[in-house]
Amino acid sequence: MTTTSDTTLTIDLSAVAENYRILTAQAKKAQVAAVVKADAYGLGAAQVAPVLRDAGCGLFFVATLDEAIALRSVLTNETIAVLHGLQTGQVELFRTHKLMPVLNTPLQVHLWQEADIPAILHVDTGMNRLGVSLTEAEQYRKSGFRFIMTHLACADEPSHPKNQEQLAAIKQLQKLFPDTPISVANSYGTFLSSDLHYDLIRPGMALYGLNPQPGKKNPMNTVVSLTSKILQIHTVDSPQTVGYGASYMVERPGKIATVPVGYADGYLRALGNRGTCAVKGKIVPVIGRVSMDLISIDIRSIEGEVREGDAVEILGQHITADELAECAGTIGYEILTRLGRRYRRVYI
Ligand SMILES: *Cc1c(COP(=O)(O)O)cnc(C)c1O
Repeated sequence: MTTTSDTTLTIDLSAVAENYRILTAQAKKAQVAAVVKADAYGLGAAQVAPVLRDAGCGLFFVATLDEAIALRSVLTNETIAVLHGLQTGQVELFRTHKLMPVLNTPLQVHLWQEADIPAILHVDTGMNRLGVSLTEAEQYRKSGFRFIMTHLACADEPSHPKNQEQLAAIKQLQKLFPDTPISVANSYGTFLSSDLHYDLIRPGMALYGLNPQPGKKNPMNTVVSLTSKILQIHTVDSPQTVGYGASYMVERPGKIATVPVGYADGYLRALGNRGTCAVKGKIVPVIGRVSMDLISIDIRSIEGEVREGDAVEILGQHITADELAECAGTIGYEILTRLGRRYRRVYI
């Protein structure tokens, strides 16, 4: 088969569905929403959301109103919640597209009170990012929200004292709203403790195969793989530098392969001289700086002949998004949400 792109991004939708089932089992009685903001973390909300719906998901979170309107054209009956909430002049759009705002400020609550649509109240218990304060929440005790939600700052660090602080605030919240379902946990929170499940969990990253249990074996299935092809091989027999800034020196005779993936494709520039790829199942280092459209890898350690056109694994079985993120000094979320638009995309 002839294709025009050397690089293929494969998104395994059955793995997303399986990950939803794993989260449902983990959540026991709690309902499991799906967070599909930022185009389902870069994987494509239009493809991912229907698969989650078919796996049983009835509630979806996006960040912005635009994302919600786009998602509505894909999901007819499911509830779509907008994390950034309801702003002046937007009530009719929320009504027309049957969207549910997450109310973050007293002004947003005020706008909603005149609107007669369902809503979630977001209470800030320590993030200091979005949400009304506990004190502000008191005056809305009789308002009839679908859910009360809050967000944990340190769910990925089980022993962080912030978790206990937030739990104490959540206990107060429960007293204020004894009859309203509560939502606290993201992916990390879901695996941190069943005490955090309450009535609804809101996982994102775990659906997409990132590890929700730092330092432990990843219980989720791999969703993303990214494979490219060697564009050119250089045989080096005298000491030579590689790439911009001559930042890497090949000292011994060997082979350098050039691969058509660069920072314009989301292969972060911070991976220069730090990232790894896999060729014929063997891990090899990225050498020199990452260019806009290219990287160089050192293939001297590969046994047998390597040819131009041979496959290079960028993400997949040997290199996870979490591992690549670690090399770049970032998190798997950033690797996924930056995945480029030039790749051939294949959904399986
Ligand atoms: C993004 C987000 C989530 C999902 O978080 P993950 O860490 O990806 O599971 C849940 N709740 C809120 C408020 C979010 O912004």
